[in-house]
Amino acid sequence: MDIKNLHNVGEKTAKLLNKLGIYNDNDLINFYPYKYNVYNFSKEYIDNITLITRVKIESNPIVIYIKKNLNKLSFRASSDKNIINVVIFNRAFLKINLLVGKEVTLIGKYDSKKNLFTASDIKFNIVNGQIEPVYHLVKGLTNNIIIKIIKSNLESINIIDYLPIEYQNKYNLVSKNKAISDIHFACSLESINNAKKRLIYEELFEFSFKMNYLKKLNQKKLKNAKKFDEEKVSLLINSLGFSLTDDQKSSVNDILNDLKSNKKMNRLLLGDVGSGKTIVATIGIYANFLSGYQSSLMAPTELLAYQHYYSINSILDKFGVTVELITGSMTKKEKEKIYERVKNNEIDLLIGTHSLLNDNLIFNNLGLVITDEQHRFGVNQRFTLQDKSMSPDILYLSATPIPRTYAMTIYGDLDVSYIKTKPFGRKEIITKLKKENEIKEVLHDMLEQIKLGHQIYVVCPSIDQNEENDLTSVNLLKDKLNIAFKNMINIEIIHGKMKSNEKDAIMNDFKNNQIKILISTTVIEVGIDVKNATMMVIFNAERFGLATLHQLRGRIGRNELQCYCYLISSFDNDRLKVMEESNDGFFISQKDFELRGHGDLFGIKQSGDMNFKIANLKNDYNILLLANEDTKKYIESKEYLKNDYYKNIVDNFLIVD
Ligand code: ADP
Ligand code: MG
Repeated sequence: MDIKNLHNVGEKTAKLLNKLGIYNDNDLINFYPYKYNVYNFSKEYIDNITLITRVKIESNPIVIYIKKNLNKLSFRASSDKNIINVVIFNRAFLKINLLVGKEVTLIGKYDSKKNLFTASDIKFNIVNGQIEPVYHLVKGLTNNIIIKIIKSNLESINIIDYLPIEYQNKYNLVSKNKAISDIHFACSLESINNAKKRLIYEELFEFSFKMNYLKKLNQKKLKNAKKFDEEKVSLLINSLGFSLTDDQKSSVNDILNDLKSNKKMNRLLLGDVGSGKTIVATIGIYANFLSGYQSSLMAPTELLAYQHYYSINSILDKFGVTVELITGSMTKKEKEKIYERVKNNEIDLLIGTHSLLNDNLIFNNLGLVITDEQHRFGVNQRFTLQDKSMSPDILYLSATPIPRTYAMTIYGDLDVSYIKTKPFGRKEIITKLKKENEIKEVLHDMLEQIKLGHQIYVVCPSIDQNEENDLTSVNLLKDKLNIAFKNMINIEIIHGKMKSNEKDAIMNDFKNNQIKILISTTVIEVGIDVKNATMMVIFNAERFGLATLHQLRGRIGRNELQCYCYLISSFDNDRLKVMEESNDGFFISQKDFELRGHGDLFGIKQSGDMNFKIANLKNDYNILLLANEDTKKYIESKEYLKNDYYKNIVDNFLIVD
């Protein structure tokens, strides 16, 4: 049911809920709190610790406006024993609700000398021991609104339980109904934990099911062994102007062997940013071409697709490979022209974004499908790719910096090739944290790099995904830098809202060293490769996850020059210090986890392999292992054919035996 038809959801609220990824009743109940507040009333008033206390309002509140953004609301209140003075800042709007005689709950600290309670929050309708769910929000929605919406609709929403009952019983898990109701509105922490356990298992069960099903399918899939002249492949490798690292060589070997085998390739090429995955994939594409087949390469962003086109074409063109690019922003006509040429086998390699999954795109003889930055897509996409064509070899590229054991589990359906070392001769990027008031030093160093003929990336955060804010921040920065550099340096902007041809033009100019400083949002996060860029300056660095910072920083350090990364932030931040310490994606992701200890593990949120609603790969790894074993048995026994939900998953893609 559409969210608009639910209680307490109007047109406006519906739009806000959409922003949180909630479109229907099912999304709503599966929108779990990310934490809970527990209101245990304090027994006595002790100075300087956070207290929760229920009081009665004894005097009309008085509001004083101190400065533009500062107001103070104060009143007297009585607790069991004494009368206290209460202040709270910047809540002038509460005044109308704070009526004499009303009981409210104060959260804050008490100073016995002044008999003053400084509240950080005032709550209405809270009872002792009450647990309050806390949800992620967007501007315009409050936690209370979300609570109200879920509460008023929970009863009437039909909750479908698709976990096979035998597994619920096996682990003594609570029912789906109870789990959903408790995850939102439980009376005890124990019920919350039981609800979590159930939902985590259920989620990992589905994930493992898909993976193990794919694995089983792929094991059976045969194809025609590919034949190609390995001498010619060597010629290409020798033309590169650098020699492959050992890991690159062995990865190339793995791929060539897969191509030559009559078993379908399902391989993941895993390597940190800058480890040189693209060239390995390119060699695979060439071998596939020599065997007489077409290839496709899918990238998560248009910018990256464009860049792959640019760099791969410059390698393969002279070897007779016809490379084309297809993007979502092309006109229908342009696309149709490409479809036609693909169908007629006039294109050997087609590079694009999701548009490659279009049903109208029919290859003449697709032999190799490559997905770059696979962690952005996830296991569901691995499903989609399966039914796309005959039975091509499949290669996934990923920089997911995760330990091998985890990788083996989340990519359990794939063979894995690792690139552990960076190309020879690379210098460690020097990373420095700078406060905003130290910007002069940074500007000075920027100028130095420009004088050396090098180029610079400047990145600003996307604030709350709010595009408008985003744009002003990059524009503002451009103005500021132009003033600082007296308009002597060519500075340009690139961001996700630009048209694709505008982006291409900017990227081209940057590649050709026409643009010296490129200011961008995180659109440059993935894959972009401009060797002459030696410096990256990231503003409001504290707003980024470490994994994102690592990916961003991976845009520099792509040649033998000494490169520098400045992280500008006025906050003291242990997380950012990790970036100063290390250039190793794996180390950084571990540290990130230790420091934050919750969700968003490896920094890959919202999309891709680790897009779990409630499970956390690291904390729940043991449950994942159980689910992994359970689903193997579930598949072997063919029990899933009796379960509508799982049967449906399986039926929704073609099985090509
Ligand atoms: P990633 O693994 O992050 O996708 P890329 O494939 O973009 O990395 O490679 C990073 C850069 O390193 C590219 O400019 C590429 O041409 C270069 N490169 C790749 N392999 C080598 C090598 N063996 N020696 C020197 N440079 C290399
Ligand atoms: Mg890459």
